[in-house]
Amino acid sequence: MVRWPASEPASHPCIVMTHARKPLTILLASPRGFCAGVERAIQIVERAIERYGRPVYVRHEIVHNRFVVEGLEAKGAIFVEELDEVPDDRPVVFSAHGVPKAVPAEAARRELVYVDATCPLVSKVHREAERHADSGRTVILIGHAGHPEVVGTMGQLPPGKVLLVEDVAQVATLTVSDPSNLAYATQTTLSVDDTTGIVAALRRRFPEIQGPKMEDICYATTNRQAAVKAIAGQCDALVVIGAPNSSNSMRLVEVATNYGCAKSKLVQRAADMDWEWLGEARRLGITAGASAPELLVDELVTACRERYDVTIEEVRTTEESVVFKLPRQLVA
Ligand code: SF4
Repeated sequence: MVRWPASEPASHPCIVMTHARKPLTILLASPRGFCAGVERAIQIVERAIERYGRPVYVRHEIVHNRFVVEGLEAKGAIFVEELDEVPDDRPVVFSAHGVPKAVPAEAARRELVYVDATCPLVSKVHREAERHADSGRTVILIGHAGHPEVVGTMGQLPPGKVLLVEDVAQVATLTVSDPSNLAYATQTTLSVDDTTGIVAALRRRFPEIQGPKMEDICYATTNRQAAVKAIAGQCDALVVIGAPNSSNSMRLVEVATNYGCAKSKLVQRAADMDWEWLGEARRLGITAGASAPELLVDELVTACRERYDVTIEEVRTTEESVVFKLPRQLVA
């Protein structure tokens, strides 16, 4: 085989110019990417635009992915942070992360047409929190301060009725009025391992605390973390396609690091990939957060093919078949 620099022309027509590429095995974690709650939220915005015409307002990024948000903007969605930015005569969609009760209440007061795209698995946590509060329990929510889902869940109950803990250390500093009358709930997109530790600390300190049979971490978060655990130890490097404000994507990077792939990072899309960082890695793991479309994975694989002799191995740890119904107002 004759190797030529790419820019150097073959000097004789009989000499075939080849360009040997280094081998790269891509381990594709599966399941990865869109979950049922994200698919549903995107469909809700698209259907709302079809039904009510452009523009349809959306309070908060419908899901945490710029690519998805920009795609919906092109179709006629306008993203705003607060309800007071929505004109009285246009419909508004609430994001998949859920909203405090005050938000639909205000929309109803203003007689806005609104569609709630809260993921049914987040709504389930809302109902749990309400049920505990109705039974007189103080609710301890395990989650990340400021995340829209946490803001939404805390906003299901009056101020002060939900206490937030972010890590094991905070369990020791919690001040509660009645330690025998507590319950916990969790954000749906946490690290399964970290949450297990926090729940254990809560149970040690408050043995009578009530909680869900399984934690509230959703099937999609659990499955994507399990798939990363399965490949991390076999990878020289691992890329999570996702957004920095996507909780479940950030957790996938942590899981990959904790399970044997120290060289793991978040990349929003192929154009952001730092090829120097990849260095001499010969086995690259790829996964995607629950709000990242498969198109972005394809884009990264294509970019790898342009630089390496790529072999793909898909590692599937479970099948997913979850589908959520659309709200009735968009189906009829
Ligand atoms: S990550 Fe889980 S809770 Fe969040 S939208 Fe997807 S299925 Fe629902």
